[in-house]
Amino acid sequence: MIVWAIANQKGGVGKTTTTVTLGGMLAQRGKRVLLIDTDPHASLTYYFNIDTDDLSNSMYALFLAGKDVTREQAQQTICASGFDNLDVLPATMALATLDRKLGTQSGMGLVIRRLTQLLQNDYDYVLIDVPPVLGVLMVNALAASTRVIIPVQTEFLALKGLDRMMGTLKLIQHSKSLQHQVTIVPTLYDKRTRASLEAYQKLRTMHGDLVWNGMIPVDTKFRDASTAQTPPSIYAPNSRGVFAYNGLLSTLLSQDQPV
Ligand code: ADP
Ligand code: MG
Repeated sequence: MIVWAIANQKGGVGKTTTTVTLGGMLAQRGKRVLLIDTDPHASLTYYFNIDTDDLSNSMYALFLAGKDVTREQAQQTICASGFDNLDVLPATMALATLDRKLGTQSGMGLVIRRLTQLLQNDYDYVLIDVPPVLGVLMVNALAASTRVIIPVQTEFLALKGLDRMMGTLKLIQHSKSLQHQVTIVPTLYDKRTRASLEAYQKLRTMHGDLVWNGMIPVDTKFRDASTAQTPPSIYAPNSRGVFAYNGLLSTLLSQDQPV
């Protein structure tokens, strides 16, 4: 099993879109994929039309169980996405209260890692959509993953948000003795604007090889796909945006090959 976290402390940069698109593509390639929504806003959960009011089990309960969480409990909480090979561990709003309720209890940072270990034989890939807030959920997502994918909007202000995310990542890596492969993904690239090009060039100057050597263009098909509650690679397989994400996925998979 391979676990990727999709994170940035800024909202609206394409985290959820990246999670759903890469997850959909892996599932189409026959991999068994679990998407974990750790964002209390639950955008990924709603993407698949999962009604959080109807859930008898929730990730919040898994967190309350903490280190005693069981595989059965995890499996009962996972929902079908409606698409082959693609499951969702849904978020609920209650997750927003975790920091206040449990944040300082020891072992709280390792609940998602424990979940992925319990589900080791059930999935090939786990992709975690991380909330933009530094807290117990972000710590959990980073502690469970070996790769962090950081979508960054190609726009001047977004670069500042990236600095914050890189600082947070270093802090958590240091305190938990973790190492990640880091991939910065330029998103919402508008080739008609100078601002996009300048932001992209600045990204590469500042972060060099950590920046994926392509970019995700602005493509209205992403919004259409979310309205249709269908992963973009299934909704619009021939769109420019999906083509770009396919390139990203190939790069990531080639880097995950053991040397
Ligand atoms: P985040 O999870 O970081 O908050 P989202 O993935 O939800 O960001 O994206 C924010 C909004 O931008 C959504 O409405 C989404 O459909 C749209 N979006 C994301 N990526 C693109 C893109 N490459 N082109 C056009 N719209 C996009
Ligand atoms: Mg999101």
